[in-house]
Amino acid sequence: MLDFEYKNPTKIIFGKGKIKNIAKEIPADSKVLLLYGGGSIKNNGIYEQVKEALKDFQFLEFGGIPANPEYEVLLQALKVIKEENITYLLAVGGGSVIDGTKFLSSAALYEGRNPWDILTKSIRTEKGMPFGTVLTIPATGSEMNSGAVITRAETQEKLGMGGPGLFPEFSVLDPQVVSSLPERQLVNGITDAYTHVLEQYMTYPAGAFLQDRFSESIMQTLIEVGPRVIKDPSDYEAASNFMWCCTMALNGLIQKGVPTDWAVHSMGHELTALFGIDHARTLAIVAPSHYRYNFEAKKAKLAQYAERVWDVKEGTLEEKAVIAIQKTEEFFQSMDIKTKLSDYTESYEGTAQTIAKRFTARGWTRLGEHKALAPSDVEKIIEMSY
Ligand code: NAP
Ligand code: FE
Repeated sequence: MLDFEYKNPTKIIFGKGKIKNIAKEIPADSKVLLLYGGGSIKNNGIYEQVKEALKDFQFLEFGGIPANPEYEVLLQALKVIKEENITYLLAVGGGSVIDGTKFLSSAALYEGRNPWDILTKSIRTEKGMPFGTVLTIPATGSEMNSGAVITRAETQEKLGMGGPGLFPEFSVLDPQVVSSLPERQLVNGITDAYTHVLEQYMTYPAGAFLQDRFSESIMQTLIEVGPRVIKDPSDYEAASNFMWCCTMALNGLIQKGVPTDWAVHSMGHELTALFGIDHARTLAIVAPSHYRYNFEAKKAKLAQYAERVWDVKEGTLEEKAVIAIQKTEEFFQSMDIKTKLSDYTESYEGTAQTIAKRFTARGWTRLGEHKALAPSDVEKIIEMSY
């Protein structure tokens, strides 16, 4: 097992009807900015529950944060925070609203002139404005981690940021929110969480037995409950397990003591930035090619995953590893997630070269668990994904 330090300060409040508990978590003298997305919370009762919980607080609201939170929109929210002397942020939404709120938490206390520098100069946030979340879609794990991804349409960029100051103080996870999710978002959530586990698991054996089994159990549970929530999103047993899987997939626990990859996300973010493809779907496009391209480096873990998660008992290590990739791709396809770039856009020619050039320009020249993937490798992986 590799050395590690582990600290996660986010308080999780999990269960039916827990949204009202936010009143106990936010300091009474706060001036709160309630942040949300395109309006789904106004159709499913979540907005009313949050407003009721905040009735004794001084608060303002800012809606309209789009999926793949957009920098220009966030700058408008930042203006409100500064002009209104906001002291506490409350994100009500999915990864997009929560990530947008993390950017605002950081930017609100940032002393530099241009907050975009936080993303382009990889400035870690040691201290941000305090915030909590009410999660409305299980997927990203952003509700219990300290990372965020922000999009800038003007430059077709999608960049990450983070730091220990960006953990939510609390997150409310009421699995009943799953019942209002359209199928597209349900399958996105399952696919994103599943790929988060893969990014932290599909590397090389590091002798971290418990960590491997945490990861395998999250994937097994997603395979079990995924089809159930798609069939019936109001199936509370399935929804609650789905929700907790998504949080556990990216709250820092399973990445401890093991090498991590994250190349699939790095490449996937470019496909969202260039074509607007849903985050989860970009991962399903890139992951199978990434594992095929890096077969030698990953085959031991691929075979272990085939045996333990997909119950593949026959064959050599290589044969099992090949089946592992097929099973993963079939799992995505079984949820009607298309796994080729050409399924989403006709103008895919040249994408591999564009992305490789961007990675070179940013100095992203050593991706993957071995830091061995150069932009020329990225180019080949993306070409395999066409
Ligand atoms: P999302 O982009 O937050 O939301 C997707 C859509 O689902 C929105 O249109 C939203 O509508 C709708 N929605 C949300 N909750 C709903 C509900 N209960 N009922 C009906 N509709 C609902 O989805 P996400 O997958 O959670 O977040 C994706 C973003 O997170 C991407 O930008 C991705 O890069 C990022 N991400 C972050 C991390 C991290 O660790 N920080 C990890 C992976 C991905 P409204 O806008 O109308 O509410
Ligand atoms: Fe993700």
